[in-house]
Amino acid sequence: MHPFTYTRVSDTREALTAGRRGGRYLAGGTTLVDLMRETVERPEALVDISGLPLREILVTRRGGLRIGALVTMAETAAHRGVRALYPVISQALELSASAQLRNMATIGGNIMQRTRCTYFRDVTAACNKRQLGSGCAAREGFNRTHAILGTSDACVATHPSDVAVAFAALEATVVVLGPDGERGVPFADFLLRPGSTPSREQALRRGELITAVEIPALPRPLRSGYLKVRDRQSYEFALTSAAVALHISGGVIRHAKVAAGGVGTVPWKLPAVERQLIGRRPSDALWAKAAERAADGARPLHHNRFKVELLKRTVERQLRVVGGGK
Ligand SMILES: Cc1cc2nc3c(=O)[nH]c(=O)nc-3n(C[C@H](O)[C@H](O)[C@H](O)COP(=O)(O)OP(=O)(O)OC[C@H]3O[C@@H](n4cnc5c(N)ncnc54)[C@H](O)[C@@H]3O)c2cc1C
Ligand code: SF4
Repeated sequence: MHPFTYTRVSDTREALTAGRRGGRYLAGGTTLVDLMRETVERPEALVDISGLPLREILVTRRGGLRIGALVTMAETAAHRGVRALYPVISQALELSASAQLRNMATIGGNIMQRTRCTYFRDVTAACNKRQLGSGCAAREGFNRTHAILGTSDACVATHPSDVAVAFAALEATVVVLGPDGERGVPFADFLLRPGSTPSREQALRRGELITAVEIPALPRPLRSGYLKVRDRQSYEFALTSAAVALHISGGVIRHAKVAAGGVGTVPWKLPAVERQLIGRRPSDALWAKAAERAADGARPLHHNRFKVELLKRTVERQLRVVGGGK
């Protein structure tokens, strides 16, 4: 572990000042401290934001949500409004990490977490995300858990968050605070694909602080849910996952929100699947036809070809679970 300073801030202005000086925000600490211990991350200054007043979940009058950045994963998953309005969020969180971690880890920290690519976490391996220009050991190495969508020559790592897949499906907005006030970043623009600069992972400007994630109100009734496929049934990251929300009225699908996890360098929205669903009547044949589009554009690697078919089946199964089968 490298030497660092530690400051605990009590208001957002103090946090922003420290953040603009290069301090790294520390929320639950469940992933940043691990990375520091492994010397993958070497911040010189830690700014503990856990005392900031960003711990509230608000349900808007129309049925949207505003989840404070410091609300824990456990608190969010258990919140009555979240469970009633967006079970897909609760389910994605409850299938994440462990109960102990969920009690510490925050929503802001969750969407900011870094990849679980083993080469990224091994400081002796070539990794463009850790050290730009050093190469990518995963491309020719063991890449079974890596991405098949959104990859670049520089990096093929997946984004590991589960709840981020639900946020992508629901078209959430990340609210960030900077020196000029708050701005909203559409979730689709918040996490960045690797391109030629895989170390740049989010659309945050220097020192900006996430204050909340907002979920728009969607037409009701809305059914939603999250399916996670993994090597073991707990304490494991997704090989594939699917977040689905459907508004069905008069026997017809009026709105469809679908995204996949475990397959993309960022949570992967599936507009081609959504288009197949809208305006049609739920049926097993429809779920199968729509899910065929889930892997459009996939570029599998040597060890992860199986993800193409697994992704389609994951999406099909979750469409059936949420939309009902016939
Ligand atoms: C063993 C293990 C298993 C796990 N399994 C899963 C899993 O299955 N699914 C899953 O989704 N996650 C999983 N996780 C990841 C876990 O969810 C994250 O560690 C956690 O959500 C991070 O939140 P935190 O508050 O502890 O973040 P911290 O560790 O405090 O911070 C993480 C990063 O976010 C930044 N940050 C934090 N808050 C803010 C803010 N408000 N504004 C700007 N930047 C901020 C920090 O600077 C840091 O870079 C697992 C973690 C572990 C250790
Ligand atoms: S896939 Fe990305 S994170 Fe993994 S070794 Fe390659 S560059 Fe690094």
